[in-house]
Amino acid sequence: MEASLSPVQKKAILICGGPVKVSADFRPPFRLSRSTAGPGAGSASIVLAFDGLRAKKAISRESGDFELMGGVEGYSLTWQGKPFIDALELRPVLYHSPEQAFFNLGQECIFDCLFCTSRKLNKDVTKSLELDKVFELIIEAERKGGMKGVALTSAVVGSIHETVDRFIYVIEKVRSALPDASIGVEPYVESYEDIDRLRLAGANEIKINIESFDPRIIAIACPKLQLPRQLDFLRYAVTVFGRGKVTSNLIIGMGETDRNVLEGVMTLAAMGVVPTIRALKINETNRPVLEEALGKLEPVTPERLIHLSQETKIILATHGLTTRTFDTMCHECTCCDLVPFRDL
Ligand code: SF4
Ligand code: SF4
Repeated sequence: MEASLSPVQKKAILICGGPVKVSADFRPPFRLSRSTAGPGAGSASIVLAFDGLRAKKAISRESGDFELMGGVEGYSLTWQGKPFIDALELRPVLYHSPEQAFFNLGQECIFDCLFCTSRKLNKDVTKSLELDKVFELIIEAERKGGMKGVALTSAVVGSIHETVDRFIYVIEKVRSALPDASIGVEPYVESYEDIDRLRLAGANEIKINIESFDPRIIAIACPKLQLPRQLDFLRYAVTVFGRGKVTSNLIIGMGETDRNVLEGVMTLAAMGVVPTIRALKINETNRPVLEEALGKLEPVTPERLIHLSQETKIILATHGLTTRTFDTMCHECTCCDLVPFRDL
């Protein structure tokens, strides 16, 4: 099993699969990451590194598709009880991501995206850090060394305008303390002015999510988003932040066709936007509501993820774009996706 799969196939299997089981007495050699955003929101997770690739996986002491074997002297992984990766390392995160200080500025969201687990987390999992505290932790991370970038995300707390203000508060402080830092932001915006304000405050990279390129799915899964409007914001963001400095999540696994996904990638690439193809994580928190609204969902297969990521790479190359122009957020992190030009 192990020898016949390429590292990219193994990473795709990891991304599409369930948690990694760890032994009851598992003690990682460093602090565990507990994500409040992204595909692993809510669960303790570890970053597995092998063959130059890395993947962040939720861990469970009870059960899992994968099982972590060995100990600090050397780890390996099984998949469905069979050898899968015979040598891997565990990597620490700085904050949420290896080498990035990535913070979620707020979780109580006024939006209601069906796939979102972030806003449904129990209070004990949420980390509502004060903005000044976030700033302090970023400075501390920089002092420790090894920080490649700063990234900020947030749910929509109160209003979009107030949330953008919160981003700006942190960005300005970080920019003034760390003039050379790369700062990436993932806000919801409601005007071109919001985009200008974020850039002016000192952000270098921006992610404005369309989530899906299928208007039917957006209307059901993210009813507060309007695709044409999001595309206008992205187009404008490229004029402000530059080509290859603007990104957007395209979630797959909500019933869209491959053709629709690739049309979305082509549309975004033609604007100078470098999308992230993100496999939907279905879990006990979001499954009932997702399937009630969208019908039975086919899980994303590793083959589909590889195919769409490879096609995305070709489309990006045609437009002279690459993920390597990003120093922050998911293209730089690579833990949750097959990232063109980095993983494949
Ligand atoms: S905007 Fe949507 S995806 Fe983001 S936190 Fe709110 S509900 Fe979740
Ligand atoms: S790829 Fe993105 S969502 Fe996943 S751990 Fe890295 S920064 Fe977080």
